[in-house]
Amino acid sequence: MNNIEQTLSIIKPDAVERNLVEDIKNIFIKNKFKIKDTKKIHITKEEASEFYKVHQSKPFYSDLCAYLSSGPIVVMILEGENAVLANRRLMGATNPKDAKDNTIRKLYGISIDKNSVHGSDSIDNAKKEIKFFFKN
Ligand code: UDP
Ligand code: MG
Repeated sequence: MNNIEQTLSIIKPDAVERNLVEDIKNIFIKNKFKIKDTKKIHITKEEASEFYKVHQSKPFYSDLCAYLSSGPIVVMILEGENAVLANRRLMGATNPKDAKDNTIRKLYGISIDKNSVHGSDSIDNAKKEIKFFFKN
């Protein structure tokens, strides 16, 4: 009990473009996350390539970086009980086709690339990703 963590969430261009930002933020709030900080930004392909560099050997890397930099995104620091895993569960599977009912990707994802949200996959990566977007 009482394992408060922070994690990084991104609302990706496909969801920002469809005006889903408030709906997605409300899902986080209903699920007991606090949004500690948030901003809407438009990153360059170079910044996206740095953010996603763990995937640099993957065949989808270039398209992924082009996509994340293709339009505005909303980045958020989410805080809550077991926030890293809780956010991954709430997001659902990477491919919206495989995502469970009531997950964000099931509700809003269009395809494996346009899957509406990003979420850190470990506490270490959460720290790195929060620092990447919110350098104080
Ligand atoms: N992705 C893709 N094609 C694939 C696998 C992943 O376009 O075959 C994209 C997808 O948008 C995903 C992102 O690359 O969200 C990062 O992949 P990862 O395996 O880390 O999935 P996630 O952690 O986002 O569920
Ligand atoms: Mg990932």
